[in-house]
Amino acid sequence: MESAVWEKVKDHPCYSEEAHHYYARMHVAVAPACNIQCNYCNRKYDCANESRPGVVSEKLTPDQAVRKVIAVANDVPQLSVLGIAGPGDACYDWNRTRTTFARVAKEIPDLKLCISTNGLALPDHVAELCDMNVDHVTITINMVDPEVGAEIHPWIFYKHRRYTGVEAARILHERQMLGLEMLTARGILIKINSVMIPGVNDEHLVEVNKWVKERGAFLHNVMPLISDPKHGTHYGLIGRRGPKAMELKALQDRLAGGATLMRHCRQCRADAVGLLGEDRGQDFTLDHIADEVTYDASKRNAYREVVARERGDHVVAKSEALETVKATGSGRSLLVAVASKGGGRVNEHFGHVREFQIYEASPRGISLVGHRKIEQYCLGGWGEDSALEGALAALDGIEVVLCAKIGECPKARLTAAGIRAIDDYGYEHIETAIGTIYAAEFGGGSLAATA
Ligand code: SF4
Ligand code: SF4
Repeated sequence: MESAVWEKVKDHPCYSEEAHHYYARMHVAVAPACNIQCNYCNRKYDCANESRPGVVSEKLTPDQAVRKVIAVANDVPQLSVLGIAGPGDACYDWNRTRTTFARVAKEIPDLKLCISTNGLALPDHVAELCDMNVDHVTITINMVDPEVGAEIHPWIFYKHRRYTGVEAARILHERQMLGLEMLTARGILIKINSVMIPGVNDEHLVEVNKWVKERGAFLHNVMPLISDPKHGTHYGLIGRRGPKAMELKALQDRLAGGATLMRHCRQCRADAVGLLGEDRGQDFTLDHIADEVTYDASKRNAYREVVARERGDHVVAKSEALETVKATGSGRSLLVAVASKGGGRVNEHFGHVREFQIYEASPRGISLVGHRKIEQYCLGGWGEDSALEGALAALDGIEVVLCAKIGECPKARLTAAGIRAIDDYGYEHIETAIGTIYAAEFGGGSLAATA
């Protein structure tokens, strides 16, 4: 990667998989209006319980958003990115987006600014995005064929008119491609989000990947459709299912070699706060924030120094682990679910896990390939049986669970399901632990000797 590009992504938890172990993002929900309809979205407000894009607890004015950003920056030293990702469209609700960014940039100039858009209004704002130093933009592109698009986006609102069906999808497609080309020509890093909708665009996303790669997209993030009748979205109500974890992985594996894939997206709420995979949004609702807040850079600055040292150690650990894997001479791959609460280490107890990070080890590398959410097993000191059943289902296809500690009962249940739970590597770097296990598994080493 060119050094100028690395400088842009090295602290961005979404654009760099490595950065996501150390740095956090926050979204402010200042943009409630949207100019298209997607069959998987219903922009829900006042909802603290659902974790998916388009859902927020409270909408903010730009003034409220700035207070919230300062409060979070004072309290969450990992914060490096402010994103506007709805709950509507950041480019359509442009005045609120622009005002918020201008005010935040004045208060905390080193915070990276990032937007997420469906692309329809994007070409109208490219010049201002450049002026405001927004160098990361996400465009959601689910199709490059309007016939497919009409199945996903029933209408758009464009130039004071409502369009439907294939005509609507064609306009959306043309505007998305135009916006993408305009931004890449100006050196802005573009991430494409695509929602994988089985039976609608799952095969078609291979084509989407080719188009966006040709037009210079930096990352392609294929995300599973989230669909549940309780959510009240069109797809939820008609029973359109999302892909299973292994179906998503199979598509992502097919796309290898095309536009570079993002595999660590958590499909965050439009008011998410914290490291990816954790959400502290409920700690920073307006009723928790003082009327007057002043930015204090000291915690963020001190944290950056610690991370710089830690990252150096992590790079060395990763490269040694890969050598360990290669030295086995095995061509096998191993899928490992890791319990981690950040820092790139195995540092979470099995009973506290809400999401596993999924790693694949093979002679090609030790890579994060996804995550699986589960219900927390241990609450108030003892384990919930139903949560364990859910965890077992979520761990479909996984061979090893790595965690800092696990009790005898869940360990036995995992073993009975053909999954080895290993807690000998608590607080090690993830890659070091996986490399050691891989060598023991396929290279004739011994786990006990290396633990
Ligand atoms: S563009 Fe975003 S906010 Fe608008 S309907 Fe689609 S998912 Fe919802
Ligand atoms: S939805 Fe994905 S890309 Fe957006 S902030 Fe969350 S992890 Fe990053």
